[in-house]
Formats: sequence, structure tokens, C-alpha cells
Amino acid sequence: MSYISDVLEIVHRRNPNEREFLQAVHEVLESLKPVLDRRPEYEKHKILERIVEPERAIQFRVPWFDDNNEIQVNRGYRIEFNSALGPYKGGLRFHPTVYLGLLKFLAFEQTFKNSLTTLMMGGAKGGSDFDPKGKSDTEVMRFCQSFMTELWRHIGPATDVPAGDIGVGGREIGFLFGQWKRLQNEFNGVLTGKAPNWGGSFLRPEATGYGATYFAEEMLKTRGETMKGKICTVSGSGNVAQYTVEKVNQLGGKCVTLSDSNGMIYDKDGVNAEKLAFIMELKNVKRGRIKEYADKYKGVQFMEGKRPWAVPCQCAFPSATENEIGGEDAKMLVKNGCYVVSEGANMPSEPAAINCFLENKILYGPGKAANAGGVMCSGLEMAQNSQFTRWHRDVVEEKFHQIMVDIHENVCSTAKEYGAAGNYVVGANIAGFIKVADAMIDQGLV
Ligand code: NDP
Repeated sequence: MSYISDVLEIVHRRNPNEREFLQAVHEVLESLKPVLDRRPEYEKHKILERIVEPERAIQFRVPWFDDNNEIQVNRGYRIEFNSALGPYKGGLRFHPTVYLGLLKFLAFEQTFKNSLTTLMMGGAKGGSDFDPKGKSDTEVMRFCQSFMTELWRHIGPATDVPAGDIGVGGREIGFLFGQWKRLQNEFNGVLTGKAPNWGGSFLRPEATGYGATYFAEEMLKTRGETMKGKICTVSGSGNVAQYTVEKVNQLGGKCVTLSDSNGMIYDKDGVNAEKLAFIMELKNVKRGRIKEYADKYKGVQFMEGKRPWAVPCQCAFPSATENEIGGEDAKMLVKNGCYVVSEGANMPSEPAAINCFLENKILYGPGKAANAGGVMCSGLEMAQNSQFTRWHRDVVEEKFHQIMVDIHENVCSTAKEYGAAGNYVVGANIAGFIKVADAMIDQGLV
């Protein structure tokens, strides 16, 4: 058996019930053959066996009082996966589907994504099975305070720097930061995604969506095209989806769909700036459902329980959650003329969908490259916080755009170097992996 299949067997044996983690490990390891053939030292140092094992996985109880004075108990986690390239870094997700295996997949992916950003960040992820939907602001605050009271002892600006993810936006980051500061008696960059008036970076809220759109634009450039005039489908309607729509509009494209866990809207005329402002208010302030968009605007269809992938488009931006594009969805996208997929979400495409995109040679940007803008901007926030300074918006924008262009270039040239020109999956996995693996060898057996 080959080194890769030996390690995959160990991973299956040790993590039998962690479906998403196994899927992510398969996707990365199976694309590493060309680099393992060229660099036998990786096998000698047992890099694969070590890189699939989190350095530390913490699970804790989070008790809190709801508004009826009833005790509620949730589970909290932090997976500190790999610190070869810097302090652990990765978001917190609050969603009922959160469990150990889901966060291990996200933290594993994060390790390679952070490597691609060129900044000094290790990989981590955390969160809770707490569902912020339908909770009052005070319930969310009490939960965040209890969660942080336990997480506090594990994180710090040079140790582990969490950020937001699904269910954790500006409101939650504020409550979490407040409690950390109170316990630690320090004000510093222990969390990113802070509000701009108290330590946040310009562009952090926009970063993931803008980055995924810039990545699509760079992919289009390889075929001499731009975003101008492109019809785009977007899933989700949260942070990533909102700023994807904003940037696509700025670059002259048109987004015709959005969704949430209840269904999708199809707006043939496109989600323009005014309609996007409505979505932001609806989702970020009123915390309403996407259906209300169809109630407000004439000619918009709401399709209950549906995802946007049957709508004809040239570019698709999955921006909701993992495994939201199945093999049949992918076939439908390609059949209807889609030739660009830029993943704002993490692992939104199932393996059958990825195979379909690769077989049809469409421009497919996997999440760890296409959505790296979010954590990259968090890295810029950390740099500003460590100097107790704040860069002008133009400075952040210039650095941000350049790094997204560099990530695209690095992924493309790595794919070419390893005999897989045009395959962004191979390019992203190998480019991300080499830096982490080399640093692990340099730092000895730890
Ligand atoms: P938000 O919580 O802001 O929005 C998530 C959106 O996706 C909501 O519209 C939500 O609908 C929908 N959604 C979530 N879970 C499901 C589900 N199981 N089925 C259908 N719809 C679902 O999260 P973000 O926009 O921050 O994150 C979206 C994706 O982007 C995630 O995969 C995340 O890991 C990834 N990502 C985010 C980054 C960031 O900076 N925020 C950085 C890099 C990646 P509903 O409200 O109904 O639940």
C-alpha cells in the first residue's frame, strides 16, 4: 500500500464517526502524491501521520440562564490543530450541527488556508452547538460570557486568536471580547472581527465575500475575461453572501439568488445596492428570513427548501455551509452554462461535485484558496492590534487585494509545477501543505 492510503486507513480507524473530517482529509491527502514522490523526507518524518492529528482538542460545558431563568447547557469546543506557522487562528461557529468532527474538518482546512495567506497563523476552529436563532440579545450575551469564561484560559494574542464564523458575527465577537477583557484585565487583539471603533480592521466584515469575488475575477482573467456582465448565483445570506453580492455588483456582475436554511429567492433583475441594504438590515439587525425579500420585491420567487444550483448562471458562489452542492447539483450547474465556482463557504462541494467540476475543466476555486481573504484580513487585524495602531482603509484594501492576487498566482503556479495545470485543488493543497510540513520538520518532533 502507498504511504497515503496507509495514513488514510489510520485516520478512518481513529475517527470513524467524523464524516466531514474524513472527507476533508481525503481531499487533501489524495492530492499530495506528486509532492510526496518528490520529497521522501516527509514520509521519513511521518508528516502525514502528524498533520492529521490536532495538537490539542478542548471540549467544555457551557451552562447559562435563558430569559425564563431556566438553566441551559451547551457544549463548547476549541480545536488547536497546528501551530507550525504561528499562533492558532480560526473562527468560532455557533450552530446546532456543531460537534467535534465538524470542527476538526474546519480546523484542518484552516491550517492549509492560513498557510496560503503567507501570514504567520496556525490553524484552529471552535464553537458550540448553541443556536443563536430565536434567542434574545441578553441570552446571546449570557451564553457568550459563559463560553468565554472557559475558553479564556486557552487563548491569547500570541497563543490562539479566534474570530467569527456561522452564527458568530459582530454582536457575538463584542460579547466574547468584553468577557475576555474582564477576566484577563488586558485590552489586546485576542479576537478578530472586532468593531472598527474598538480595534477591528477596516474591511474585515467585507473580507471573505470580497476575497471570493476577487478570486473568481483572477480565475476569469486566465481566460481573458472579467466579472462584467456575468450572471451569478449565491447561496446563503449571511456575512459572506452579502459582501460577495456587493463586490460582484461593483465589478459589473449580477447576483440573482440568495438563500437561508428555509429556502432560496430568485430575483431575475439582480440584487442591486438598495436590495442588498434591505438584506443586511433583515439579516444583521432584524434577524429575519430570506422569504421576506420575496414578500417585499415584486417578481421575486421564493422556493421553499431549495438551493440555487438549478438557476442558470456563469458564476456560482456557494456561501452558506459545507456539502451544499451535491454531484447532481454540480451537473446541473455545468449543464446550464456555469464555468466559474468560487467557494466562499468551507467545503461546500461534495466529492462528486468536485469531480464533476474538474472533469468539465471549469474554473473551480476551492474554499481554502477562494475564501482565504477572511482570515487573511484577520491576520492584518492582528498585525494592527499588536502595534496598537490602525491602518487607513486604503492601506488595508491595497494589501488585501494584492494578497488575494498572490494566493491565486501561487495556487496556479504550484498546480503547474506539479503537472496539474488549471487544477486549483491540487495547487491549493500542495502549496498550503509544503509550508506547514517544512516548518514542522524545522521545529523538530513536537
Ligand atoms: P453567517 O452565519 O453570517 O451566514 C450563514 C448563512 O448560511 C445563513 O444564510 C444561513 O442560513 C446559511 N446556512 C448556515 N447553515 C446552513 C445549513 N445547514 N443549511 C442551509 N443554509 C445554511 O455565516 P458566514 O457567512 O460567516 O459563513 C458562511 C460560510 O462561509 C461558512 O461555511 C463559513 O465557514 C465560511 N467562511 C466564513 C468566513 C467569515 O469570515 N465569516 C471566512 C471563511 C469561510 P440560516 O440563517 O437560515 O441558518
